[in-house]
Amino acid sequence: MSERVEISLACTECETRNYKTTRKKEHEGQITLKKHCPRCNRHTVHKETK
Ligand SMILES: [Zn+2]
Repeated sequence: MSERVEISLACTECETRNYKTTRKKEHEGQITLKKHCPRCNRHTVHKETK
């Protein structure tokens, strides 16, 4: 069984935390995803934050 941890995804441009998700604890490196940011009003890269 793999433990999962809750993380937030923050826009790398305005640093607003827009999304929450979970990932496997043993995953290496930080997750980056392209998602819509309501503050920037367009798709931006979102990075994992604690
Ligand atoms: Zn943004």
